[in-house]
Amino acid sequence: RPRAAVVVTGSELLTGAIADRNGPWLSQELVGLGFEVAHVLTVGDRPDDLASALRFAADARCALVVTSGGLGPTADDLTAEVVAAFAGLEMELDEDMRARIDARLAAWAARTGFGGEALDQATRKQAMVPRGAVALPPAGTAPGLVVPREGGPLVVVLPGPPRELQAVWPSALASAPVRELLTGVPPAHPRSLRYFGLPESEIAATLREIGARRDLSGIEVTTCLRRSELEVDLRPGPHALAAADELHAELAARHARQLVSEDGTTTDELVARGLLARGWTVATGESCTGGMLASRLVDRAGSSAYVSGGVVAYSNEAKTALLGVPAEMIAEHGAVSPEVARALADGARERFGADVGIGITGVAGPDGGTEAKPVGYVCFCLTTAEGLVLARDPQLAGGRSDIRERSTDIAMNLLLR
Ligand code: ATP
Ligand code: MG
Repeated sequence: RPRAAVVVTGSELLTGAIADRNGPWLSQELVGLGFEVAHVLTVGDRPDDLASALRFAADARCALVVTSGGLGPTADDLTAEVVAAFAGLEMELDEDMRARIDARLAAWAARTGFGGEALDQATRKQAMVPRGAVALPPAGTAPGLVVPREGGPLVVVLPGPPRELQAVWPSALASAPVRELLTGVPPAHPRSLRYFGLPESEIAATLREIGARRDLSGIEVTTCLRRSELEVDLRPGPHALAAADELHAELAARHARQLVSEDGTTTDELVARGLLARGWTVATGESCTGGMLASRLVDRAGSSAYVSGGVVAYSNEAKTALLGVPAEMIAEHGAVSPEVARALADGARERFGADVGIGITGVAGPDGGTEAKPVGYVCFCLTTAEGLVLARDPQLAGGRSDIRERSTDIAMNLLLR
C-alpha cells in the first residue's frame, strides 16, 4: 500500500496545552482511503522543524503528506512558505484567492467594524500561493493548498482549527493531483469485529492458532480496546480479500458469545437501534456513575425517541426520596447491593413511565471500600415493565475514573441483552 504521513504543527501541541485532534482524524481518513499511515509527526511553529519533518516523510517513502496548522495571517504561520521551499516552488500572489479573501474580510469588517491596513497586509500574506500549487477554497480565511513536488511526496496543506481542516478536506480530495494519486491506491475494504469482555490475549491466541493453518500474510490485523470493547480490524491487501473474508467469518464464530458486532457497529449504536426497533424508552437511576450513563445515552442525535430521563441519586436520602428505595432496604443490605440496584432500576422506570430501567450503585473509591464490598464492587440491574430482570455485580479494577467509566460500559452492554 502507498504510504502517507501526517505532520501536525503548533507549539501549543508540544507544550501539552491542547490535545491534537487533527492527527487522529486525518489518520482515519487516510486509512479509509487505503493508505498505510506510516507516521504522524508533531512539530512546533519553527520552520526548520517543519522542514525536517517533511524531509523525514519523503525519506520514509510517503507518497502523500498532509499538514495541519500554521496557515493563518500571523507571523508564526509559516507552513505555506516552508512547504513551497520543500517543493522548490516560488511564492506568488494568487489574484483569485486575494479577491476571495478580500470579499470575506469586507463582509466581516462591515459586520464587526474591524479592518484596516494591518488586515490588508494579512490578507496579502494568505493569498500567497506556491507557483504550481492548487489553492483550495478557504473555510475560514486560510486557503488550503495542494503542493506537488518533483519526485514526491504530494503535500496537502490544511488549516489548524479542526472545524476548518475538516471543511477543507473534501476539496483537497477533489483536487486533480490528489485524485490522480488516489487512482494508484487500492481501496481499503476493512472488516471490523467488536467484542465485549474478551481479553486481548485471547484474540491474540486465536489469531496465532488460525495463522498456523491459514496464510494471513496479506492481512494487517490490529486490535484496540475502546470503551471496554475489543475492536479487531482486518485490513487486507488487494490480493488478500478472500482470505480476509474467511478470517473474518472464523473470528466471528470463534468468540460468538462475546461478539457485539461483526461490522464494527458500536454497542451504543446497537442499543439505540434495539430500543428504536422495539419502541422502548429507558430511564436511569445512577449512584456511582453520577449521570455518566444518561449522558452516554443522549450522546447520539435523536435519543429523545428512546431516553425518558435519569436520576442521579447519590446520597441514601436521595435514593429514598427520589426513587423510592426503602430506607430499611439500604439499612439492611447497604447502599451498594443487588437489592438497591434493582430498586433504583424499578424506581427510575416507574417514575419516568419508561419501558426499561437501569440501576447502578457501586464503590468507586478510592475510599469507602470494606472487606465484603471492596472498591470496584458495582451492582447493576436492568428491569422491564414485563418483569425481565438482568443483574450483575462484578468486581472492577482500576482507579475511580476507570471504575466509573467501565461501569457505564457495562450498563450499555446490559442494554444490548
Ligand atoms: P488560524 O488562521 O486560525 O491561525 P492556522 O492554520 O494558522 O489557522 P493554527 O494557528 O495552527 O492554525 O491553529 C489555530 C488554532 O486551532 C489553535 O490555537 C488551536 O486552538 C486549534 N488547533 C490547531 N491545530 C490543532 C490540532 N491539531 N488539534 C486541535 N486543535 C488545533
Ligand atoms: Mg495560526
